[in-house]
Parts: sequence; C-alpha cells; structure tokens
Amino acid sequence: MMHYRVGLGQDLHRLVEGRPFVLAGLEIPASKGELAHSDGDVLAHAVCDALLGASGLGDIGQLYPPSDPKYKDADSMLLLGDVWNLVRKAGWHLVNLDAVIICEKPKILEYRDKIRANLATCLNVDIDQVFLKAKTNEGCDEIGRQGAVAANVVCLLSRA
Ligand code: MG
Repeated sequence: MMHYRVGLGQDLHRLVEGRPFVLAGLEIPASKGELAHSDGDVLAHAVCDALLGASGLGDIGQLYPPSDPKYKDADSMLLLGDVWNLVRKAGWHLVNLDAVIICEKPKILEYRDKIRANLATCLNVDIDQVFLKAKTNEGCDEIGRQGAVAANVVCLLSRA
C-alpha cells in the first residue's frame, strides 16, 4: 500500500539594496535582494520546510541554525540537496510540488521555467512535477511596499 504525506513550507525575507535577488538558485535582475545570513533564497527555504514537514524530519531552522557561522552566505540550493537526501533516505518520493512567490518586484513569470528546472534538477524529478506561480500583494503590507518577498510551498510525498 502506498502512503502519502503533504508538507507545507513558508518563508519571508526582507528586501534591501545591495543584495542579489535569488529564487531556487537563479539570480534575477532586481534593484533589491533578500537580506539574510544565508543567500536568502526564500523559495529554496520554503521547499526545504515543505519536504521536511511532509516527512516529519524537522525544519530548516533546526537543521541549519542561522546562528551557525557555517551558513553565512550559504548556497541554499546545496542545503536543499542535503534536505532532499535526508528525505529520500527515509524512503520518500516526490509526487509533486507547487509554489507561490509573493512580491511586487521584480516580475517572476518570465523566469518560471528556469526556476522550475533548477528545482527539478536539484530534486532529480521531471519538470512537470514542479510548478510555480507569482503574485503581488496588491500594495498591502511590507511586501506591497517592496520591502519583502515571501514563498509558500506545498508538496506531496509517497512511500511504498
Ligand atoms: Mg529563509
């Protein structure tokens, strides 16, 4: 019998000048980028937490504490690869993953397929198992004032 687990991951980072804007390892031209101890890759972080949540193996803050100097400017796609190895070793397969990025700027959709490909490569799945939408916050709150970017991710894992 096949077992299924859903996972939810959320993340938010402030946007500041002088930092690269990175989603799933892809640097997107923008006037501001994510402020973080790591590279601030909000999408990679949310995917990690969705996978960890579905498998019940912890969360990204626990596995990679921001207080640990080892993770200064860390490449979050390497962390995602580590997380996925952990989850795979527990016998889980990815059925699909769906993500929403929320920010006012830059526009994300023209980069959608590159971002999907980066995630699919990192997780060793087909690109059609990974999808991505982008929304604005309609000018509301800190995200609406171009001061932050957020990511929401759900995933479905299966295990025989
Ligand atoms: Mg984060």
